[in-house]
Amino acid sequence: MSIENTTVKIVAPLSGRVVPIEDVPDPAFAQKLLGEGLAIDPSTNLVLSPMDGRVIDLHAARHAVVIEGQAGIQVLVHVGIDTVMLDGEGFDALVRKGDDVRAGQPLLRFDLARVSAKAASMLTEIVIVNGESVAVTRIDKASGSVEAGASILLTLHVGQAVADDMPTAAAAPGNRLHSPLIELPNPMGLHARPAAVLAQAARHYVADIVLSCGTVKADAKSAIDIMSLATRHGDPIQLSALGPDAAQALGALERLLRDGCGERVETVAVPWVMAEDPIVARSTVPVASARATDLTGSEFTGVAASPGLVVGQLVQWRDAAIEFDEAGGAFDEEHARLVGALQRAREQIERLAARSGSVGPGAQIMDAHLALLGDPVLTELAQGKLSDGASAALAWHHACSVVAQRLAQHPSPPLRERASDIRDIGLRVVALLTDVRRTAPKLVERSIIVADDLTPSDTVSLDRSKVAGLCTVSGGPTSHVAILARSMGIPAMCGIDAAVRLLADGTSAVLDGTAGTLRIAPDAAALADAERRMKAAAAQRDSSAQAAHGIGCTRDGHRVEVVANVRDAAEAADAVAAGAEGVGLLRSEFLFEDRAVAPDEDEQSAAYRAVAAALGPQRKCIIRTLDVGGDKPLRYLPLPKEGNPFLGLRGIRVSLAYPDLFRSQVRALLRAVPHGNLHMMFPMVSDLDEVRAAKRILLEEQEKHPHPVKIGVMIEVPAAVAIVEALAQEVDFFSIGTNDLAQYTLAMDRGHAQLASQVNALHPAVLKMIDSTVAGAHAHGKWVGVCGALASDPAATAVLVGLGVDELSVCVPAIAEVKAKLATLEFSACRALAQRLLKLGSAAQVKAALAGRP
Ligand code: PEP
Ligand code: MG
Repeated sequence: MSIENTTVKIVAPLSGRVVPIEDVPDPAFAQKLLGEGLAIDPSTNLVLSPMDGRVIDLHAARHAVVIEGQAGIQVLVHVGIDTVMLDGEGFDALVRKGDDVRAGQPLLRFDLARVSAKAASMLTEIVIVNGESVAVTRIDKASGSVEAGASILLTLHVGQAVADDMPTAAAAPGNRLHSPLIELPNPMGLHARPAAVLAQAARHYVADIVLSCGTVKADAKSAIDIMSLATRHGDPIQLSALGPDAAQALGALERLLRDGCGERVETVAVPWVMAEDPIVARSTVPVASARATDLTGSEFTGVAASPGLVVGQLVQWRDAAIEFDEAGGAFDEEHARLVGALQRAREQIERLAARSGSVGPGAQIMDAHLALLGDPVLTELAQGKLSDGASAALAWHHACSVVAQRLAQHPSPPLRERASDIRDIGLRVVALLTDVRRTAPKLVERSIIVADDLTPSDTVSLDRSKVAGLCTVSGGPTSHVAILARSMGIPAMCGIDAAVRLLADGTSAVLDGTAGTLRIAPDAAALADAERRMKAAAAQRDSSAQAAHGIGCTRDGHRVEVVANVRDAAEAADAVAAGAEGVGLLRSEFLFEDRAVAPDEDEQSAAYRAVAAALGPQRKCIIRTLDVGGDKPLRYLPLPKEGNPFLGLRGIRVSLAYPDLFRSQVRALLRAVPHGNLHMMFPMVSDLDEVRAAKRILLEEQEKHPHPVKIGVMIEVPAAVAIVEALAQEVDFFSIGTNDLAQYTLAMDRGHAQLASQVNALHPAVLKMIDSTVAGAHAHGKWVGVCGALASDPAATAVLVGLGVDELSVCVPAIAEVKAKLATLEFSACRALAQRLLKLGSAAQVKAALAGRP
């Protein structure tokens, strides 16, 4: 209850037509998340103060200002909609934060023509942002047109606030809980709209909730307080809460912040980015912190990253914070310190690489880190900062932050995930410069490590005898954690809810890396079930491995070759050891990535010869020519910036556009042909002329290197399916890339986070494409393989066999299981199954039918 005792008049800051706040085309204002008020469609461009008072906030983009005046009332004047995106362009501030102002005094000036050309709307909102706390009981609003500095826009009737009976957080007992650090994803920081959404959500909780950015804190229930933090994209922010519902509040608000508080944002976290122009003299590299909370019995779901089921106990991954002085000494001194630290980092990485073996993804990642340490872009950025007087630590930190931030915003998910490599080498060098030892947490038996993100070197350095599983908040199936976990045989999941970071060390859990779930504190029945499934899986693995060295065929003798997808000779050797009958897809682009220039002909030829040597003279190896473009750019290839790279220069189109590059690859391959059973395959074919053009180049090069080679094309786009009979007359074989074929058939980006579960190659439309390809190819006596990820899924083996596929090219860990599955099948039953599935209408129906559900 409150008693009315005063009125406050708010003067129109602009001339123009008055518009009800409910009609503003921005939900945060229209739904009054920021407060009550009105909008003006302005005919003037000078924003006048709406009352006597003080400027308590002036947004960095100069489009919004808050005045606090009589009775503590705070008035926000927000010019236009989405004008924050202009980042100050077209706006001049005529006052500064903290200035005392009189009603009618000019605050801001804007270029009406320039701003209105770019803004979503020029409607200017005048809103009382703290109406509840200053007990505004009624607001009389003007209508029609108003004159700046003369008309009364709003009349506020203010009463005395009387405390109600709500439980208050201040009275609540217990410890203050903290969220992990959150990298702010909003492109323009927490400006009016996201701030309002966050404050509105925070007000649902009784707990006292604070949002901090560095040392500055804000009441998370006040949009103005949040706005006045002046946050920027990439700022590390943290929530803390005290009160009976603190844990729930933190979980929900952290999710909201990571999702952009209603704004479209990139979801990839960038946990190590600083503002361009630091204003504090000392920096701290932010790291995650966590407090215990109780989520007993709950199940977290995320993205399956590395298969397997384990029971273990959670260990929260925490790093020591690294502090460093920003101001440096003389340039030469700081430069020498940086060079020394880079050298020591190189030595550390070489030691790590030696530990992780000379082959496999761990070694490759360490090699990439070594290359990054000498990357000219990083060096140049760091030197620029050193010249400005920065310390060696700040210079390197700045360089890595800038590059990591750029990568983190890249449209390609695999490239976004490479930002963690840059952060990794950034941390390593800064730690060396500050003599901070980065110590891993103490592991216990069967540790399930929980982290916001794990750097590649953290992952490689893990004590495998103790680590049962990995869960990370960020990352996806192509992140390094996922790649390394798979190669290390550690079950893992990514993209888990950040609330998991609040769980106490030692909490028991069941991690299912195949399904992408984490069950917290399982009861006895859930534990027994997990133990039973683990035993069954181990028995299955043993028997599959024993049978893996026979030839691939069904129970009734129908032959289907089981070969492997590999990237280099080392993986080819692993594939042979695991029972692969050959290589169905050598992704040659791996040889071209992570380097400053393309490998020359000799280097390429040596790499292909090494693969041939690993396979021996009989086992076939299909070398796919360079498949770049789309989500796989090459640093040294000047591909045009395309609106939709997946529909642009990709695969064979790039090779034909850069014939010198293509010719050198063709020559390298031809020179390796006498050393093994090598075939050549063209990716992303959509037109007969492409194949003919590529073959013409091959023929010309064969004049100098007259070695016969079998030619195949990948079936990855529906157009290729439609012309398969014409293609079959030009080539010797086909291999279906179901990853791209699903993307182009279903019109769903294969890297789209939200559509991830729907880009499913089991969709009947994709199955139909496979069916047509096999029919068209077989009609001309040509064989068909499948090398997309669908081939590695044992649940899909029956339908692929039933569709008549002749070869399955699978990832190395799946070889034994797919072969074992094949041996249980009967060809006629597979054919009947495939015909049934072709008639269904969704991937979900196909999956249910394969699982034996009606
Ligand atoms: C595919 O598209 O299924 C395929 C095997 O090629 P990549 O995944 O390399 O694009
Ligand atoms: Mg492909």
